[in-house]
Amino acid sequence: MQALLDGKVALITGAASLNGIGRKTAQLFAAHGATVIICDLDEAASIAAAASLGDGHLGLAADVTNKQDCERVVKAILDRYGRLDVLVNNAGITQPVKFLGITEEDYTRITDVSLKGTLLMSQAAIPAMQQQGAGSIICMSSVSAQRGGGIFGGPHYSAAKAGVLGLAKAMAREFGVDGIRVNSITPGLIQTDITAGRLSDEMRAEILKGIPLNRLGDAKDVGNACVFLASDLSAYLTGITLDVNGGMLIH
Ligand code: NAP
Repeated sequence: MQALLDGKVALITGAASLNGIGRKTAQLFAAHGATVIICDLDEAASIAAAASLGDGHLGLAADVTNKQDCERVVKAILDRYGRLDVLVNNAGITQPVKFLGITEEDYTRITDVSLKGTLLMSQAAIPAMQQQGAGSIICMSSVSAQRGGGIFGGPHYSAAKAGVLGLAKAMAREFGVDGIRVNSITPGLIQTDITAGRLSDEMRAEILKGIPLNRLGDAKDVGNACVFLASDLSAYLTGITLDVNGGMLIH
């Protein structure tokens, strides 16, 4: 049987973090036959993460809030591989702060990575996908966007991730005609470095009461959803929001 992502070239942002969703997604993509480009702030970490996937993958440094960086990354991919099939807009940062405590600097920092980053990297990637007449863009939102707060994200994080949902739906509407699918994932509480060290036993027990599947999520749970949305199994899906939350939020 053919691997689900055979022959696909996939760019994943924020994918160098050792225990992160992006890194696990990169591993799963490679296991399913994709060529993976890992981009993250730290160049050495990106190169090492790509090398850990095996031969033929690429690690590049980029700040997704910087337009030139995004364009440089996509150009490097097209120069080397000649195509770009999948973009996972995964880079994101959070900050546990209450509404009245959000400074203007906080607001800009938090919203820029998730929201402006998704805009700029998608703008860089879409022309190549249009030329190919195909592409899949996956945008990492959060349950925090849907319920007005997750566990660790402040209101500005909820706003950024809700913005991602709107942006992704608008892209889906505009670029469906070019064969480009755009979908979002809304993870619940996933055990990564974003949550590490911030969860007491009491907090964990309290959170589990609200999760029907009775466990926190793993990066793999989200990575597998990315594999599905990147692959042709989801060929007729665009503009959707895929909840990966163990039932934490049921609509
Ligand atoms: P993570 O391990 O911290 O991974 C995020 C990665 O993004 C890090 O490697 C980080 O680099 C990188 N990054 C930060 N700013 C960047 C920028 N400007 N340009 C490029 N890369 C940048 O966190 P994660 O938990 O895997 O989160 C991945 C995504 O899922 C995020 O969008 C997050 O909001 C979302 N999410 C996570 C959860 C959860 O419970 N973990 C739930 C819902 C949604 P540095 O380490 O150098 O900062």
